[in-house]
Amino acid sequence: MLIDTYGRVATDLRVSLTDRCNLRCTYCMPEEGLQWLAKPDLLTDDEIVRMVRIAVTDLGVRHVRFTGGEPLLRPGLVGIVRRCAELEPRPKLSLTSNGIGLARTAQALREAGLDRINVSLDTLRPEVFKTLTRRDRHHDVIAGLAAASAAGLAPVKVNTVLMRGINDGEAPDLLRWVVRNDYELRFIEQMPLDAQHGWQRTDMVTAQEILTALGEQFTLTPEGESVRGSAPAERWLVDGGPARVGVIGSVTRPFCRACDRTRLTADGQVRDCLFARTETDLRTALRSGADDARMAELWRAAMWGKKAGSGLDDPAFLQPDRPMSAIGG
Ligand code: SAM
Ligand code: SF4
Repeated sequence: MLIDTYGRVATDLRVSLTDRCNLRCTYCMPEEGLQWLAKPDLLTDDEIVRMVRIAVTDLGVRHVRFTGGEPLLRPGLVGIVRRCAELEPRPKLSLTSNGIGLARTAQALREAGLDRINVSLDTLRPEVFKTLTRRDRHHDVIAGLAAASAAGLAPVKVNTVLMRGINDGEAPDLLRWVVRNDYELRFIEQMPLDAQHGWQRTDMVTAQEILTALGEQFTLTPEGESVRGSAPAERWLVDGGPARVGVIGSVTRPFCRACDRTRLTADGQVRDCLFARTETDLRTALRSGADDARMAELWRAAMWGKKAGSGLDDPAFLQPDRPMSAIGG
């Protein structure tokens, strides 16, 4: 098991497949100038599948989520999903994507064994999308969502980050639209993980603000602690259900006590937390002929020292050197 000194057990693995992206969301990346990981440093498809196999068969991981950067940019994605779906015990497989290109690949991903998908969409307005992502691709995301749903990747989840003065007035409209389309919406508080270090606590739209805005137009009934488990999203039934909305208050309502995550970056580093300032290099061991037992031992050691919390509430908090796009969100 991947256990830490606080007794938490990591069963949920996030794998970043690339740090590159075809959007430039302002809360994530600068317009240009971000240094990409060097190609030779990226794990190959075989190396990724081997790491996932070790996590699943030797370390008790039960859920694997592929992310990035934009995971749909990884040419071998469908093959990686297929090979991971053949593992025993079969892990749950999911993907977080910006949805661009999903209209073409959703069916193949489903057939390869993908169980679930989260698609990021921050606005219903194409011109606001262009401001937020610096690309005019709103229609691609909407088409991607529809294709995911048609392919049976239900429930399709929609991830939304609200930015003050840009899309923060859209929460109720987004919820109405998502419910109407049978997707499930989750708002994520903006976190200090942007490559350009522009995050300001005072600018952040808080979970409470989001709930207040939604509460003016919907009746929200909390689902409760027991349903949340280790999930970062707190969930509410919308107008009595069955529709739900989630809010991930990573900054103001942290969930570190119940965290069950372990992370593998595209260049083979294990991280015990999004906000960790250190990581453990497993790529070198992987490429030096370490056997599975040794790799598992290194991974266990990497997780053992996981801190109690993200440290976000500490005035001395320091943002990690790697941005979200290179860690895998
Ligand atoms: N490119 C894919 C996407 O956008 O869904 C996957 C990677 S992205 C880093 C994963 C999620 O992190 C997205 O839902 C995105 O909105 C969110 N995200 C990125 N930067 C963030 C930040 N600074 N604070 C909160 N969420 C962020
Ligand atoms: Fe790309 Fe996702 Fe970051 Fe937006 S949030 S720039 S889509 S990696």
